[in-house]
Amino acid sequence: ALGRARVNEYSVYSSTFNIETYRRHQLQKSIRTAIRRNELFLEYQPKVNAWSGTIVGAEALIRWQHPDWGRIPPNDFIPLSEESEMHILIADWVLEETCRNINQWILADLPIVPVSINVSPKRLIHGNFAETCQETLQRFGVSPSMLEIEILETDVLFDNSKIQQSLQMLSQMGIKIALDDFGKGYSSISYLQQYPIDTIKIDRQFATTLVQDKKTQSVVRSVLFMAKEFGMDVVAEGVETMGQLHFLRGLECTTIQGYLFSKPLPKADFEQAMRRRQIAATEAMTSPISTR
Ligand code: C2E
Ligand code: MG
Ligand code: MG
Ligand code: MG
Repeated sequence: ALGRARVNEYSVYSSTFNIETYRRHQLQKSIRTAIRRNELFLEYQPKVNAWSGTIVGAEALIRWQHPDWGRIPPNDFIPLSEESEMHILIADWVLEETCRNINQWILADLPIVPVSINVSPKRLIHGNFAETCQETLQRFGVSPSMLEIEILETDVLFDNSKIQQSLQMLSQMGIKIALDDFGKGYSSISYLQQYPIDTIKIDRQFATTLVQDKKTQSVVRSVLFMAKEFGMDVVAEGVETMGQLHFLRGLECTTIQGYLFSKPLPKADFEQAMRRRQIAATEAMTSPISTR
């Protein structure tokens, strides 16, 4: 029907609009079936010690392999899922899949490290997330200390009592809380004391300009200093080059996450990496750890 539409200004505008609406609608419908049809899976990106290359943690990142459309990046469907209740199903699926995998690693006698999952603040507002975590951790025999919640800095800004309550409960259960993409949004220094934050993840944009830009260096230095004062851990995200690594070492930033050490890995490849527990930056740069 769209193909037969008259090409005048109005119909061009309205058909474009309809295709977009149609696409969103289709995508939303598909998210609903994605879980059922096993199209979702997780990849794990190691977090490593800046000096030794030892894997000290991992971030679980959702992947969607659609049978017709191929890989759909999380940035394309996570925001869409938040327009309906679908984001709850996704969050709870990620939680469950992560705990299921940790349980498999325990049973297989693999060394385990804390794994973080990204949780949308909307999931925290909706309620009962802490209870869901408790139930899921128990069901898979996983210690709360093995789970970390990553929450976007921008969204924590909203002075939302539900979010605050939810984070307090998670924290009291022994689940660590990380502030994701720190520095990308508004400055939230005053909120750092208000929320039970254990870890600050410095946004990738800072790694990009760190080596050349003096201002970025000051910001990163200040964040590291402040985190130390508050007793928080820091992770530098998006580290891609040896130059950036050297700089961060100089600033005594202990934990690094980025392509320099490892891309997000399919589960089997992550398990392989965990068996060795160690990734050298130079090795990671010269050998194709993951081509997927
Ligand atoms: P994020 O939580 O900040 O995750 C880090 C993103 O940076 C990931 O992209 C990762 O692949 C990418 N990355 C890591 N190291 C490097 C690097 O050295 N260079 C560059 N250029 N990129 C790097 P990804 O997997 O596409 O995820 C994008 C965002 O989607 C995430 O950002 C997170 O906000 C969201 N997301 C991913 N998985 C989930 C999930 O399970 N639930 C929710 N609610 N959001 C998720
Ligand atoms: Mg994250
Ligand atoms: Mg991030
Ligand atoms: Mg991000």
